[in-house]
Amino acid sequence: RPTVLFDNVSFGYEQDRQILHHLSFEAPAGSTVALVGPSGAGKSTIGRLLFRFYDPSGGRILIDGQDISQVAQESLRRAIGIVPQDSVLFNDTIGYNIAYGRDDPSQEQIVRAAADASILPFIEALPQGFDTEVGERGLKLSGGEKQRVAIARTLLKNPPILLLDEATSALDSRTEQDILSTLKRVSADRTTIAIAHRLSTIADADIINVMDAGRIVESGNHADLLRRD
Ligand code: ADP
Ligand code: ADP
Repeated sequence: RPTVLFDNVSFGYEQDRQILHHLSFEAPAGSTVALVGPSGAGKSTIGRLLFRFYDPSGGRILIDGQDISQVAQESLRRAIGIVPQDSVLFNDTIGYNIAYGRDDPSQEQIVRAAADASILPFIEALPQGFDTEVGERGLKLSGGEKQRVAIARTLLKNPPILLLDEATSALDSRTEQDILSTLKRVSADRTTIAIAHRLSTIADADIINVMDAGRIVESGNHADLLRRD
């Protein structure tokens, strides 16, 4: 379980427009750290820098003290599991969708990932089980079911770092609560960075960093933040 540190990070997509301004925060080993703030604050940009879609123009991003620009891209990306807002499923079987991107996972690993994502009983109740086609060719999955398949895909990689990028914001509130409890469980022994635009979805994070316009403007746990309001 690694420690993730953003140390004085600055970044802009374009030459003369800075998006992140000397931003620093730490996600201690095994913690859940939330980044919350309005749309456009720079939350997803932080995720993209961590995954090295882009490199910062200033400052450093460290995992266990090592600058990620010195880590092989492949091992960096293997260490980070992402659950995005809208998970795209392929027009193929449930099993294929869970296994996608992994080298030859065993059936046992796939079953365990599905169980951890709380979707195994649903899959096993289908006549074709993991071989059920989804998308245009087969079963229509609900938003919540799709998200669970995507979570299983991420868990199959057993990533020590989890990046949840508004992972439940596309769901209705009842489904959101179900998925949130699953995510809470699967993030328990990982270092988790949870991006959200509402405080309510990440209220129990160990540390909540409130962002605005590319800066962290407040930081603390939920009780700390409420006290300051
Ligand atoms: P959030 O996740 O908090 O909504 P983002 O990190 O997506 O915010 O975006 C922060 C800022 O960066 C916004 O002003 C957005 O318009 C800008 N931005 C995001 N992606 C790009 C991009 N690929 N090119 C240029 N600007 C971008
Ligand atoms: P991979 O399987 O390629 O090792 P993941 O399973 O962790 O990586 O990534 C799932 C998907 O999320 C990938 O297609 C990746 O492009 C996408 N992704 C990466 N970073 C972000 C981000 N910050 N926000 C949303 N989606 C992202």
